[in-house]
Amino acid sequence: MHEILRSLPVGTLVLDLGSAEGSFPQTATSATVVRLDQVSPNNRVGRTLFVQGDAALLPFPDQTFAAVISNHSLEHFDDLVTVLREIRRVISSNGCLFVAVPDASALTDKLYRWLARGGGHVNAFVTADKTAALIERATGLPHVATRVLCSSLSFLNRRNAPHPLPRRLLLLGSGYEWSLFLYAWLSRRLDRLVNTHTSIYGWGFYFGNVVEAIDIETWVNVCIRCGAGSPSGNLIKQGLVRSSFLALRIYRCPHCGATNPFADD
Ligand SMILES: [Zn+2]
Repeated sequence: MHEILRSLPVGTLVLDLGSAEGSFPQTATSATVVRLDQVSPNNRVGRTLFVQGDAALLPFPDQTFAAVISNHSLEHFDDLVTVLREIRRVISSNGCLFVAVPDASALTDKLYRWLARGGGHVNAFVTADKTAALIERATGLPHVATRVLCSSLSFLNRRNAPHPLPRRLLLLGSGYEWSLFLYAWLSRRLDRLVNTHTSIYGWGFYFGNVVEAIDIETWVNVCIRCGAGSPSGNLIKQGLVRSSFLALRIYRCPHCGATNPFADD
């Protein structure tokens, strides 16, 4: 999504759809960010451009936004096709759209749904091609790229989980970072050695007039604390990777400082 955010000029608007707390910082773009959700963010300080509203009935005029970002939100909307049509209505004629959704057949989404008793995921996306075609059909925006997104199960991290901790989390290592570190290391190894998909989260889709070249490389290094993905080459260049016990390679997350297992992309 940063390919889109970086290319938006000053004076344009970008809609962060379905994320009260924000799915990216204002500093990620020169455009002005408007966030919309059904519930208000917990902390309104410094969040001047938040709009409380319904994604199926967006309270904006036609062609308001240069881009719409729907980052982990489409799986939550009851009337998905209506929401997609609303997205199309509020995007300018040469605008673009980024969508990230979980792969409902992947372990990550199954775990999330089990842990959170559904977790509000009302839509299940099971193939990249069908999902891209559905969005393209409903929005009228041409699909231009797809990238596979990995997971680190950061939603299980006890720092991110609601308190008191859900009982089911106790069965999954109680959300301690050592258990997530172990899971991330093991899942990356399994995926590489026997071609499983245990570290897959889902997909990121790009639609419309995306000006900047899109990076479709899969970033396997996703932080167990903040969930940020980092290209392995950048982590090495920044000197954040080092060898540890038994030559295990680890990296320090450039965003939050958490220690993670390292793997080459
Ligand atoms: Zn992090």
